[in-house]
Amino acid sequence: MNITIVGTGYVGLVVGACLAETGNDVACADLDERKIDGLKKNVLPIYEPGLESLVERNQQQGRLKFTTDVPAAIGSADVIFIAVGTPPDEDGSADLRHVLAVAEQIGRHMKRELVVVTKSTVPVGTASKVSAAVAKHAKYPFHMCSNPEFLKEGAAVDDFMKPDRVVLGVETDHARSVMAELYAPFVRTGKPIIFMDIPSAEMTKYAANAMLATRISFMNEIANLCERVGADVDHVRKGIGSDARIGPSFLFPGPGYGGSCFPKDVKALVRTARACGVDLTVLDAVEDANERQKHVAFHKLRHCLGGDVRGCQVAVWGLAFKPQTDDMREAPALTLIDELLEAGATVTAHDPVAMHEARRRLGDRVAYADTNYEALSGADALVVMTDWNEYRHPDFNRIKAALKQPVVVDARNLYSPGKMKSLGFTYTSIGRNGA
Ligand code: NAD
Repeated sequence: MNITIVGTGYVGLVVGACLAETGNDVACADLDERKIDGLKKNVLPIYEPGLESLVERNQQQGRLKFTTDVPAAIGSADVIFIAVGTPPDEDGSADLRHVLAVAEQIGRHMKRELVVVTKSTVPVGTASKVSAAVAKHAKYPFHMCSNPEFLKEGAAVDDFMKPDRVVLGVETDHARSVMAELYAPFVRTGKPIIFMDIPSAEMTKYAANAMLATRISFMNEIANLCERVGADVDHVRKGIGSDARIGPSFLFPGPGYGGSCFPKDVKALVRTARACGVDLTVLDAVEDANERQKHVAFHKLRHCLGGDVRGCQVAVWGLAFKPQTDDMREAPALTLIDELLEAGATVTAHDPVAMHEARRRLGDRVAYADTNYEALSGADALVVMTDWNEYRHPDFNRIKAALKQPVVVDARNLYSPGKMKSLGFTYTSIGRNGA
């Protein structure tokens, strides 16, 4: 099939590369010339495990093309995926400007009957708006499909190649059969393609992210309470996670959720509900709890340093909002760094892959270290903000020797409180006994 993806970001690039890998001819279009120029030379704008070789191989074999000529890419397609950003508007609702701009272009430049797929995360009702925008100029029939994306940054290629499920909101048999054929290679192990109406598909994505965000905020609050009552959230997590109705995933407390999806999608769902006169009180609380949680690492550090961080140098390990990605959108590390700088501390930061992105966002407000150990040199304390593998088993003696004071705030519960204590650290983590 001839596939065009409009918007070549985290989602568009992964979807495009994976669809090319299964034999389709894919054009990935984007307005960003630098990004497209780089991609033509196999220089990826993002870090995502396994993606570089996929892009290189499919580009070499002529199945994957990159272009800034969006009209031409639209003209050659049987299926068009809209995968542009849907950032939060000022009031938190999803900004559909980019999505609707692409829809208009599709109407103007389509050259045959096609399926228009909304891949971006969009509020219920968006497919009808997209359909109206395409229809304004369309000279050929088209079929709408809502196909929300559930990939996780850091495991995006695997998630797309082996999805737990594929959700497809369709209205016509044509859309249904084209999309079933396109996704058949990805569900050969028997994972379901779930067909539904379009509003339900649009809602499914928000409900999934809202549920996951709720688990995180819930566990963060339970962890904070564990500290007060002398319980250990690690035991509690295992105790509840072994209940089949609950399950073990997404029960790890931490410094609050971040990234490009949970914060914006929870906000957008709350705004959608409000616009219909419905209060989502649980999600209001999820957001509040997360906002509070993003300050916990700073408060813990300040406490460990005697109530004042002014003049202190702090090493921060981990800047990305989670491991295996360079994405720093809404990363809790950004909140911590802002608070530290405002309180008169200085920061030396390290991240295995997000240093380039950090320099772009933070400029010279912080110092950057080439290795995690280098970040400790001259520092009063260490805060671990992202659970990268390489931070999991560090050389603790080296950490202790490098730090001016043996203070470690572990916002990801990577280390054993007992071991840290026996090594002489002032150690604190989230919701655990003795820390
Ligand atoms: P992104 O910001 O990384 O990429 C969006 C791309 O669209 C950019 O490269 C931008 O230049 C391009 N673009 C904007 N307007 C354009 C236009 N008119 N024509 C052509 N290109 C245009 O965003 P992303 O993280 O890939 O997210 C895209 C959508 O997918 C969002 O709705 C997001 O919520 C959703 N989503 C993201 C993830 C994720 O993990 N990042 C997962 C699932 C769903």
